[in-house]
Amino acid sequence: MGKASAAAAEIACPVCGGGQFELLFTKRDESFVRCKACTLMLINPPPDPDSSSATYDEDYSQAYIRKADKKLKRCAGWVKRVRRRFVGSGRWLDVGCSAGFVVRAAADHGFDAHGVEVESAAVEYGRDALKLKNLRCGFLEDQGYPDSFFDVISLYDVIEHVPDLNHLVTELDRILAPGGVIEIRTPNVDHWQTPRDLSTWKEVKPSEHLYYFSFTTLKTLFENHGLSVRHKRAMLKPALNVYFGKTVAVAP
Ligand SMILES: [Zn+2]
Repeated sequence: MGKASAAAAEIACPVCGGGQFELLFTKRDESFVRCKACTLMLINPPPDPDSSSATYDEDYSQAYIRKADKKLKRCAGWVKRVRRRFVGSGRWLDVGCSAGFVVRAAADHGFDAHGVEVESAAVEYGRDALKLKNLRCGFLEDQGYPDSFFDVISLYDVIEHVPDLNHLVTELDRILAPGGVIEIRTPNVDHWQTPRDLSTWKEVKPSEHLYYFSFTTLKTLFENHGLSVRHKRAMLKPALNVYFGKTVAVAP
């Protein structure tokens, strides 16, 4: 039974609303384009959402478990950095948390740590092996967390997978506490190590990585939702690591 897929329609640029795109290349019949107005790179028309999740279902718990110790250590480093620089305690939410290594590390460092993940096998592993209670399976937007609930929200290699960026960032802004911080890590299309010929870039993944940010496009997306940059880490790898907080209104 083949899926009856309607002819996919182009979307407007989620960052600037623009409707004019330059075709950069195609891969597996998907068009990688750049917004002519703001330079955001994306797959447009967007791939069928059903085609993406199938790829990383099963084997991952195996590969993951083998590297658990190493992963926990690495995640602890990320947590400590946030604690040092931004928020010392409170509630932490890791979005797209996989098995919950960041959640475990945040809990170990004194946070009331939560995670949300669409992949149920990962959530089960986190609950069993990592002894995590606050893992939820599903999409962030369906969880109904209270307003201003989290002091830290992290998305590590997640935002490039999310079909509706504006829906996501609206929700992040709603559940972020005043004074809280959102940490984003995602590939950087604009990094000096990113190949000029973007079709050869290893981060280019049809059906999986839907959006390819530069610092400017990422910053603009968040600013559109009342969130502004608090810190941008310099990265040796072709990745962005940016911290956002609520834009503070300046008294007149
Ligand atoms: Zn645009």
